[in-house]
Amino acid sequence: MIGGGYVGLVSGACLAAFGTDVTIIEHDPARLDRLKAGTMPIYEPGLEELVTKQRQAGRLAFSDDLTAALRKSKAVFIAVGTPTRRGSGHADLSYVHAAARAIATHAPDGLLIVTKSTVPVGTGRQVASIVREARPELTLHIASNPEFLREGHAIMDFMKPDRVVIGLEDWPDAPSTARTLLEDLYAPLNRPESRLLFMGLESAELTKYAANAFLAMKVTFANEMADLCEATGGQITDVTRGMGLDPRIGPHFLTPGPGYGGSCFPKDTQALATSARQAGTPTQLVETTIAANEARKRRLAERILALAGDDITSCTIAVLGLTFKAHTDDMRQAPSLTILPLLHEAGATLRVHDPQGMDTARTLLPDGIIYAETPLQAAEGADMLLVLTEWPSFAALTPAHLASHMRGRLILDCRQIWQKEDWQDAGFDYHCLGMGRTR
Ligand code: NAD
Repeated sequence: MIGGGYVGLVSGACLAAFGTDVTIIEHDPARLDRLKAGTMPIYEPGLEELVTKQRQAGRLAFSDDLTAALRKSKAVFIAVGTPTRRGSGHADLSYVHAAARAIATHAPDGLLIVTKSTVPVGTGRQVASIVREARPELTLHIASNPEFLREGHAIMDFMKPDRVVIGLEDWPDAPSTARTLLEDLYAPLNRPESRLLFMGLESAELTKYAANAFLAMKVTFANEMADLCEATGGQITDVTRGMGLDPRIGPHFLTPGPGYGGSCFPKDTQALATSARQAGTPTQLVETTIAANEARKRRLAERILALAGDDITSCTIAVLGLTFKAHTDDMRQAPSLTILPLLHEAGATLRVHDPQGMDTARTLLPDGIIYAETPLQAAEGADMLLVLTEWPSFAALTPAHLASHMRGRLILDCRQIWQKEDWQDAGFDYHCLGMGRTR
């Protein structure tokens, strides 16, 4: 498994738990040292225990020696990052290409090369030609196996997936070596025959982007409906419940928020839009989704400033939640990274708290922001409280807790973590996305 990040680490540990011998190859020396020392470089519930158990069982190892690992491997997975290329919407494939070149140097005959990273359509065939050009004498098998795990639920998602998408180079020909090897790897899944979806390489690559873009679009649609509810007196929770019970729509990803973020939706929507433009079939819906999400974060900052009143320089805003969602330490493309600098620039004093994201946030947010160890410390003396992430520990806070720490009584809950009535009854001026006021 090349790459010891969220995907490589979780996939490697889970495949080890399925009974496969796995070596995770990580080229960042600091990260590798941490992994070897048994400390996880990322926060993911249950991961440390799983990794420890699999290492003790002798099925999981960490190394930077790809040559040695390939010598004893039947398959290699590429699980390296595919960020957005600077200055364009393209996926930066430099890590994937570097991994392919490294594999080419050391590949044993008969190796199966699987792309697990999220990559634009056509990348699997690029990987194949990089390796084949370098080693024309080898018999190689190529597959695409995009990963659908969600940070915060990653182990369960890998162990009990809705589906495992597998793209094969020679699909739909008769069962290939690649197919048999991947069937063996995933055999421990419950009812594996109904979970494994075989298709061509291009379809598998497109499936991953299509799924993420669709989810991003669904969230963005819910955000727009929330705005409409606010403007007209509707309640978004009622509207989305009414929509979501229709099985053609489904209830998930209809909760409004400050805009989607994270390491996947922003870059995958960009990459899909770019691939589609290049292919001469632009995706208007995806392009609009990207623009609407960007605008949303800036509009939310303007709304917060308007709520805070004219004298923003004497206003203290407590911010609960910095990561792009709960149960992760991932700060990549978090809405807080757009919203907080705008509030800071306007002159507000920011007191922030996040259970997992503060170390990284300190390196990404402007100086002068005050980091608090607990939510209540963040609320100390605040005129306004802003909820940006739906961490369960925030939901446990009551009006009485906050009343004794805040100076003001203004709340903007961007994640619907509380009941409006509880706060209004306690004298708070409580605002929540998508909750229109008719009276
Ligand atoms: P990450 O940045 O957390 O991890 C990538 C790791 O690969 C890093 O530790 C890096 O040092 C290492 N690496 C890069 N090149 C290497 C090389 N040549 N040899 C050894 N190590 C190398 O990234 P991630 O979040 O795990 O994402 C990986 C891929 O999976 C991306 O394409 C992403 O879009 C996709 N994905 C991510 C998620 C998610 O929730 N994070 C979910 C599904 C799919």
